Amino acid sequence: MQSVWNPWHGCKKVSAGCMNCYVYRMDKAFGKDSSIVEKTNAFDYPIKKNQYGEYKLKSSDSPVYVCLSSDFLIEQADEWRSEIWDMIKERGDIDFKIITKRIERLTECMPEDWGEGYENVTLICTCENQEMADKRLPVFLEMPIKHREIIHEPMLESINISRYLESGKIEKVSCGGESGENARVCEYDWIVNTRNQCVLHNVTFVFRQTGANFIFREISNFHKRKKRESISNPLVNRSMNGESRRYSSIMNRKIMIWKIPLIVYFCSCRNRRFTMRYI
Ligand code: SF4
Repeated sequence: MQSVWNPWHGCKKVSAGCMNCYVYRMDKAFGKDSSIVEKTNAFDYPIKKNQYGEYKLKSSDSPVYVCLSSDFLIEQADEWRSEIWDMIKERGDIDFKIITKRIERLTECMPEDWGEGYENVTLICTCENQEMADKRLPVFLEMPIKHREIIHEPMLESINISRYLESGKIEKVSCGGESGENARVCEYDWIVNTRNQCVLHNVTFVFRQTGANFIFREISNFHKRKKRESISNPLVNRSMNGESRRYSSIMNRKIMIWKIPLIVYFCSCRNRRFTMRYI
């Protein structure tokens, strides 16, 4: 089982991956300004107790994902973070997973007794494209962290992280497409490429979600390559040489649903953990 803990809400966009941030999309529906960072009522959620003096958050609720409606390392939360570290220390029975696009701020946000990192904390660095991978991952690998993961979500292009994986410091890589009405394209090839890098370096790979604009191109080695014309609502993309290629969203192509088991098959890592959610 897994849980979510949002001690604060609101964020500021920092890179291309933030363009269609779901926090902004959700807040917009309620006329809320997402750029204002505020403490939530769940601020002390991990240490809240019931009438019997027991923690409401059980060990079985682990892992707990922290700050999914903000960024844990955002500047606006600096004054509150020390309390959060105390709670995380108190709940040593729970694994906390912290996802951030601001990994370069970790040094100034660490608690005094951080040392080489808390055993029950996993830092997850998000890199949506090659530029952000090459900017954030070298810093990520240098930081004192006990458990490291990488997320490419929304994955915006093919990303080569082999040189970071070969460090042996990355425990898991997750990929996923973008959700929402204006979702940008995520290609099956990119996912398979990352999966292959993980297999090569013996790193756990997870395909989290296709997103709303997933492209399955004719890349199969065991199926004949065929041009697939879009059936409805086609999206036309331009390849590097200017040749027009026709794509379409998997969400709008019922005919492509039968391929989902193939995607699962391709992305499965033999002898490695694989999960596929939200499909
Ligand atoms: S860092 Fe995350 S929560 Fe913040 S704006 Fe970007 S995508 Fe949204």
